[in-house]
Amino acid sequence: MEEIPLWYWLIVLFGTGACVGSFYNVIVYRMPRGISLLNPPSHCPICKKRIPLRYNFPIVGWIWLRGKSACCKQPISIIYPIGEALCGLLGALALYAAAGFGADITKPMLDPEKWATAATLFWLLLGAYPVCAIDYKYKLIPDSISVGGIVAGLLISLIPGGVTPFQSLLGATVAGGGLYLLGWIATKLLKKDAMGFGDVKLLAGYGALMGLTCAVETLIVASLLGVILMVPYAKLMARKSKANKGRKNPPENEDAGQIPFGPFLAVTAPFMCLWGNQLFDFYLKFILE
Ligand SMILES: [Zn+2]
Repeated sequence: MEEIPLWYWLIVLFGTGACVGSFYNVIVYRMPRGISLLNPPSHCPICKKRIPLRYNFPIVGWIWLRGKSACCKQPISIIYPIGEALCGLLGALALYAAAGFGADITKPMLDPEKWATAATLFWLLLGAYPVCAIDYKYKLIPDSISVGGIVAGLLISLIPGGVTPFQSLLGATVAGGGLYLLGWIATKLLKKDAMGFGDVKLLAGYGALMGLTCAVETLIVASLLGVILMVPYAKLMARKSKANKGRKNPPENEDAGQIPFGPFLAVTAPFMCLWGNQLFDFYLKFILE
């Protein structure tokens, strides 16, 4: 790692991100259809023929085939390579942001703390997409992202220089436990479920990945964002349901106006990972003066 320049690792992380994106394409296609993720191996949805490995490379495979399947020449949606490219860009962004925007990419990145931040950001940025999509659509957060985040955070904390293993453990238990307690109190007060357990596990993961301060900041900023965006959205929904009352068969949307909280957490977390400590210093200065 001593002599390998940053640009090389940026390409590696772009490729890794694109592979994750390719896996997401598989999940998005197979999960709602109840097909296992691993078996059968990737096959053409139209003629059911196996797709050879050489066409399975993210982005490159699609360009190679010029957007048509090799077996039956059916068009393959451009959405797939675009999704892969976006995930690739997020992967490269994780490293470049950790190196510091404007870092010289011809030089190697030696600071282990920056590598720890890059690993954390990679997880946060690429995990944000499934949290947003699945929580929005199915109102749940997959354990592979939330509980997976706790495991990833504890593992990354072993890299010297960043969040220590103790800070990681403390972050997971206090951030997760605190939110659980908040949810419990809110549920008692409002007499209805106020906080999903998925959010608790997700925030515990953020505590393990970023430490307690940044996880708490993520919760606060995400809540503020939620309030700012939810008020006009709830108004819009109220107007819609009023308009629907006049009709004979109002469309079924019993949880209209209810927005899942996971996406707000997921979008806020990468920013707090990068600038949470500065935000905390700024806040301290603000209240001490
Ligand atoms: Zn085919």
